[in-house]
Amino acid sequence: MEFGRRDILISAASMVVGSSALARATPDRPLGYAIVGLGGYGLKVIIPQFANCTHSRLAAVVSGDPAKARRVAAEHGLPERSIYSYDTFDTIRDNPDVDIVYVCLPNSMHAEYTVRAARAGKHVLCEKPMAVSVAECETMIAACRAANRKLMIGYRCHFEPFNLEAMRLARAGEAGKIRYVRSEHGFVQRDPSVWRLKRALSGGGSLMDMGVYSLQAARYMTNEEPIAVTARESTDRRDPRFTEVEDIIDWTLEFPSGAIASCQSMYSANQNHILLMGDKGRIELEPATRYDGNHMWLGKDGREREVTPPPGPAKTQFAGQLDHMAQSVRTGREPIVSGKEGLRDMRIVEAIYRSAREGRTIRLDRRT
Ligand code: NAD
Repeated sequence: MEFGRRDILISAASMVVGSSALARATPDRPLGYAIVGLGGYGLKVIIPQFANCTHSRLAAVVSGDPAKARRVAAEHGLPERSIYSYDTFDTIRDNPDVDIVYVCLPNSMHAEYTVRAARAGKHVLCEKPMAVSVAECETMIAACRAANRKLMIGYRCHFEPFNLEAMRLARAGEAGKIRYVRSEHGFVQRDPSVWRLKRALSGGGSLMDMGVYSLQAARYMTNEEPIAVTARESTDRRDPRFTEVEDIIDWTLEFPSGAIASCQSMYSANQNHILLMGDKGRIELEPATRYDGNHMWLGKDGREREVTPPPGPAKTQFAGQLDHMAQSVRTGREPIVSGKEGLRDMRIVEAIYRSAREGRTIRLDRRT
């Protein structure tokens, strides 16, 4: 268990101020999360993961559906006072059980709920993409800074054993000098009515959703920041699913070392792949960034072998992510995937869209 002098001092101070404050400051008390948005991810994926956590627990739910919120609260033993609607959300400031708000809403709502959570004095874990524009990301970072609260983005792959092992192998030079990265992510989006296909809620198409994985992979696998991007979009606008947002988008990133990343996202085929080509070998993951069942190979010296990574420190990537945020709050350290990381991606996302629109390369290291 990680806790230091600061926690002990807080704990000692709380003995003076009373028992409820003591409960809040005890170092090994798991920190309380409020889940905002009881949809596919918040309800079905994240909430069950608290069972795998050491430092985190479910403390509140925020939903537009009162019956669903009551059912989930009852299933998890939450009191009535820990159920919020979007209208009553700001009163979460008075709930000492909630330390961290986890925003699992459609993309265009991330900024609003992050800012409201920070103003309510809560730390924020916000799903990817961080927001729908650079300006919104900057507002979110400023709000959390002003409230002296932590902000982390739900980049779960930084806690996923295959991706961590691939990063370690790449950094250790197992494939030699990395020259080329490929990453494609997509799934078949069948239902034309979903919010992901409505620009006002999603901010964009496959790039805003699955493309974020390809972009992130290019950055964390090379451990470099891109200096230029060239993009091309391919969307059948007669398809009723794609009247507002893009289907397929391809983009090439150039890195300072000379490495190139060729990335893609789409809503019309299933793909989930990361390939790193170095001057001595290759590291390949497929599937690469799934919730589970990922696979990895290392090709070197004319031989190909499947790599099984050592188990991660947490039971699952989701528990690792939740507990990392809790420990960041507890220790005062910045989360490894803070708001700044989300902002970096959003700058590149805006440049990808601009490159596709204007049909030219956009420099990321200077104004073009
Ligand atoms: P979803 O459609 O399943 O759930 C969205 C939730 O938001 C629902 O509870 C819905 O009721 C609520 N909501 C509130 N206002 C809404 C509105 N105006 N329109 C539509 N829904 C509204 O979506 P999801 O798959 O849970 O995605 C939520 C967020 O989580 C997205 O930002 C997505 O990118 C992210 N996500 C991340 C991962 C990951 O692996 N990190 C996986 C899935 C989703």
